[in-house]
Amino acid sequence: MEKAITEHFRLKPVQIQGLNKLGLKTLRDLLYHFPARYERPAPEKLIRELRAGETAAIHGQVIKTKISLAFRKKIPLAEVIIEDATGRIKAVWFHQPYLAKKIHEGEWLRVSGKVSARKEQLYFANPSFQAAAETSIFQNTAAPKSSSLTPVYPETRGLSSVWFEYTLKQTFASGAASELDDPLPEMIRARYHLLALGQALLLIHQPRLEKEALAARKRFAFEEVFFIQLKRLKDKLEYGRGGARRIETTEEILTEFLKRLPFAPTAAQRRAIGQILADLDQDRPMMRLLEGDVGSGKTAVAAAAAYAAARAGLETTFMAPTEILARQHFESFISNFAGDNINIGLITSSECRKFPSKLDPNKHTHISRAQLLKWVKTGEIPIVVGTHSLIQKAVAFKSLALAVIDEQHRFGVKQRAALVKKGGGRAPHLLSLTATPIPRTLALTAYGDLDLTLLDELPPGRKPIITEIVMEEKRNEAYRKIKKELELGRQAFIICPRIDLPDPAKALALYAKSAKQEARRLQEKIFPEWKIGLLHSKLRPKDKEQVMADFQGGAVQILVATSVVEVGVNVPNATVIVIEGAERFGLAQLHQLRGRVWRSHHQAYCFLFTDATSAKIIERLKAIQTAKNGFELAELDLRLRGAGSLAGPKQWGLSDLGMEALQNLKMVEAARAEARAMLTEDPELKKNPIIRERLAATANQPIHFE
Ligand code: ADP
Ligand code: MG
Repeated sequence: MEKAITEHFRLKPVQIQGLNKLGLKTLRDLLYHFPARYERPAPEKLIRELRAGETAAIHGQVIKTKISLAFRKKIPLAEVIIEDATGRIKAVWFHQPYLAKKIHEGEWLRVSGKVSARKEQLYFANPSFQAAAETSIFQNTAAPKSSSLTPVYPETRGLSSVWFEYTLKQTFASGAASELDDPLPEMIRARYHLLALGQALLLIHQPRLEKEALAARKRFAFEEVFFIQLKRLKDKLEYGRGGARRIETTEEILTEFLKRLPFAPTAAQRRAIGQILADLDQDRPMMRLLEGDVGSGKTAVAAAAAYAAARAGLETTFMAPTEILARQHFESFISNFAGDNINIGLITSSECRKFPSKLDPNKHTHISRAQLLKWVKTGEIPIVVGTHSLIQKAVAFKSLALAVIDEQHRFGVKQRAALVKKGGGRAPHLLSLTATPIPRTLALTAYGDLDLTLLDELPPGRKPIITEIVMEEKRNEAYRKIKKELELGRQAFIICPRIDLPDPAKALALYAKSAKQEARRLQEKIFPEWKIGLLHSKLRPKDKEQVMADFQGGAVQILVATSVVEVGVNVPNATVIVIEGAERFGLAQLHQLRGRVWRSHHQAYCFLFTDATSAKIIERLKAIQTAKNGFELAELDLRLRGAGSLAGPKQWGLSDLGMEALQNLKMVEAARAEARAMLTEDPELKKNPIIRERLAATANQPIHFE
């Protein structure tokens, strides 16, 4: 049933482009293009009663149809004039002249949509319509009620929601939906009371009642999560197939490593190290995600694993997303392993280094790429730190046993796959590090193939950040506190929700503060004696670097920025962060932003500015003051604001429906358990050919943290 949409419907080039853009090729794809939401039936009105801006339905007879070209004759336009007992109104459809061909003079229609106005003339633009029963146009009452909900589809140029509604009706009429095999086995459907495919498709596209749409959406959410789980778990089986190099460790080696750390590990670090060393001592490869807040000490945990590998005579590679980070890790490994005669290498696109230097055994030194690669290949350099440069073909290991990926959310699946291939037939143990707090349901789904270790404890001695929620009338008081910090020589971040105002002429109060305008206002009115820098995503890379360097060096004391500073910016002298329009940010995101001033040994402050007065919003912001960590906040966000609050939903490869499913831990766990049970019993999916085919068909789609 993989019939192409283009075989079935006559389409214009702009529509074919639209389908491509939405990734819809087959009738199956079309049937799986679900409405984003549903609209209740619009109130029935007489034409005379219509007002501009309202959404309404009318019922009348077509008295004229016309097809023309609008907007410099570029866009085909279908126009229809409809009449009831009280008046006439025009309905227009852009890009869909065929609609007018379907509508004939004299026919009766029910038209519903938003009423627009142009030069005092009311009209409907792209309304939905249905054939309707005739009523006397002299009958001066509103039309009979339509009871069904109207689906609203994700649109793109050339393909309106109405087009989808109309085309899907045709698709159902052709019987295409009933030809599809149901990818969910009946047993599973029965266990969780899920609708069968045919019925679910009909009800998700054409529900009469909200509860019908909900039942259908539940089925497809389960299906999506189930298939993601299958894919992850199958990948995992495959990953382990060739076996791994076992890294044996002793209690003694662990003790030696811990002695080398300049601090006592936290209980969480100890637990994590124990878990990881136990995993490494298996001939199945480990696949583990180490999640911990910024500053929780993930590097030391990874270093323990690298140390164990080196002592066992095996190699470790450690990949970081930026040169600065790679260099930082390289140096911290050197200080961790000093005195152990362990050679350490660094590979980035701009340089290669080796520790120890021949001339000075306490230092590292530049060496040629060729030389470094040679030593890596012969196993003489057992720990190799680097950037993306590590995954180049030229890099080969003797016996790679462990791959560590730092800030793994910054890498794609392909990069991860390329790195682990360096094991030469035997998969290295994989340890991924991340600081992005995500709720458990998302972790189970997006990282279904990874076992999870949490570092849910910060090293002792960090002073908690003083966090205040500041209402408009206390703004100046907060500025006075900030000035005090600046006078002590500290620096401040000021985060605004947007770069620019959509229309500077409009009242400032109407919109969230914009970084550009706020930087100007602060410079002129509030902090004239300090230097203010501006950072946002639309600056040229060179200007970004300059302003960051100025802030880092202290030439700029206040950095006004959008949330671009969320990742990677590290200025220990900054002790204040102000977040404008705090209610617009997710809690987990506020927490990440606040983490920017957590690196200092000075007391740090976070001011959450808000003009929201709703008790609910204030309650939500207060959670920032009490929550123990980012995970708690991520869960809270998901509960209070829904899946939309999660950072960059698309990067997880989930559809909107899949994101909705994340609200439901039970469902995610059930889908995971079913996927696991199926693969345990039937690892090759021989008994489930429909599922095997579906999996193969989606195999090339990026459903991983890209
Ligand atoms: P992240 O988890 O963000 O990668 P790092 O590993 O970079 O954190 O550690 C942050 C800082 O905390 C480093 O300076 C590190 O030396 C220090 N640190 C890590 N663990 C401890 C600990 N148990 N006690 C004290 N300081 C620690
Ligand atoms: Mg780190």
